[in-house]
Amino acid sequence: MPTAHRNYVDGEWVESRSGDTFEVLNPADTTEVVGEFQSSTSEDAEEAVEAAVAAEDEWASTPGPARGAILKDTAQILEDQKEELTETLVREEGKTRSEAGGEVQRAIDIFYYYAQKASDLGGTVKSPSGEDKNLYTKREPLGTAALITPWNYPIAIPAWKLAPALAAGNTAVLKPASAAPTVSLKLIEALDEAGLLAGVANYVTGSGSEVGGVLTDHEGVDAVSFTGSTQVGTAVAQAAANDLKRVQCEMGGKNPTVVMPSADVDEAVDIVGVGAFGTTGQSCTAASRAIVHEDVYDEFVGAIADYAEALEVGPGADDPDMGPHVTESELEGSLEYIEVAEDEGANLVAGGEALTDGEYADGYYVEPTVFADVENDMRIAQEEVFGPVLAVLKVGSFEEGLAVANDVDYGLSASIVTQDLTEANQFAENVEAGVAKVNEKTTGLELHVPFGGYKDSSTNTYREQGDAGLDFFTSTKTVYMN
Ligand code: NAP
Repeated sequence: MPTAHRNYVDGEWVESRSGDTFEVLNPADTTEVVGEFQSSTSEDAEEAVEAAVAAEDEWASTPGPARGAILKDTAQILEDQKEELTETLVREEGKTRSEAGGEVQRAIDIFYYYAQKASDLGGTVKSPSGEDKNLYTKREPLGTAALITPWNYPIAIPAWKLAPALAAGNTAVLKPASAAPTVSLKLIEALDEAGLLAGVANYVTGSGSEVGGVLTDHEGVDAVSFTGSTQVGTAVAQAAANDLKRVQCEMGGKNPTVVMPSADVDEAVDIVGVGAFGTTGQSCTAASRAIVHEDVYDEFVGAIADYAEALEVGPGADDPDMGPHVTESELEGSLEYIEVAEDEGANLVAGGEALTDGEYADGYYVEPTVFADVENDMRIAQEEVFGPVLAVLKVGSFEEGLAVANDVDYGLSASIVTQDLTEANQFAENVEAGVAKVNEKTTGLELHVPFGGYKDSSTNTYREQGDAGLDFFTSTKTVYMN
């Protein structure tokens, strides 16, 4: 049994008052306990917020380049540990080795990126309307930020919240998802090793409602940055609004890829397949709907079914094409949707079963699954599955494809596969999504451009990543100097 990891509060490694811990299991082999974590109480969370509030002034008045130097050292420490971090992510969350390596690299790159930004937060000099006057704007930190993160990118998402928050001069309390808290702990360890001031970054594990509840309610918290489900995010946004905290919730998706007759079908299958089955479909930007023109529909359905059947499923450590689900409840979620889709009359053309024999016996495995002949009003076409389950819908025209793509509550990422420039432009202009892609998979993001959703995918007030990451974590002050 491993020693329980502790919370990190005010620069100290501390146990919860509860005296209780919870276990995180390897989803590829549930006989292995990856780590044990503190089941923190409300008081533990309050103490972390108080430590962050107490550190606000000192960190905010630390010059930007000095803050950046700490972030750069953190990035270097993480880079030195890249292999170990990748291994941990594979064991904790079930990603394949390639996927995990990519995610860890992203976290490292994010710290380097915002290390630079800390010295250049922006601000503008404006022409004043009079002599002997100066007029300029500057960005100032908000104070204490609560960062609540999901399990599906358990190091990249904490990194893309922590790094801009700290670069901009805020202090932070991170509450990672209970299913995968280990790799984000490594971020905190790296910040500690880099010499971060006590109280600037705090880390508290435990139940979403208890620890997360304190973070969204506490009057010491000035901003809440949440990523997770639309259901929880809606409650978080409402709680944070009670005392006018700045809030940003990035939530679920039901991301379409429209396939037009001018598309190369093999290319379209690759684009949809990687988007649908990469990271076991457990991505907010996963391609969960293929909306295919009738001229290429039959060819596409045959080819995507073959693609799914050919994928190698197994433990992430072996670097197969697809790993397991992260938890039993996520596996059950996928299996339930498979049942629902069959009951609704969708046509199962690939997969559809849990994998339970032999090497799969101790893991949370499901076959990559494709449903064809899905109607737009079926639940499988409308609701986020968060697993490797693709719905294929047939349309008769570009206009119908665009309308179906938009006819969901979500609006995160959307793509089209076409060789027609007019269709590409019209799609990019009219699709209701925060990210629009042409001849690219719905998944995959560049770190220096804004990311976020429309409709129920986001509170849609601020974006994350790039300069947008700094927008959320700063206020703009306009200075009139006479
Ligand atoms: P989740 O269940 O909503 O949990 C997200 C985080 O919120 C976890 O840390 C959770 O803690 C915490 N939480 C739970 N209840 C809470 C409450 N009442 N108050 C405050 N915090 C609370 O989501 P998930 O299952 O971890 O992640 C999957 C979801 O995230 C999917 O819907 C996916 O689409 C979405 N996602 C969106 C993006 C994006 O950028 N749009 C990116 C990645 C994932 P516990 O883990 O302890 O319950």
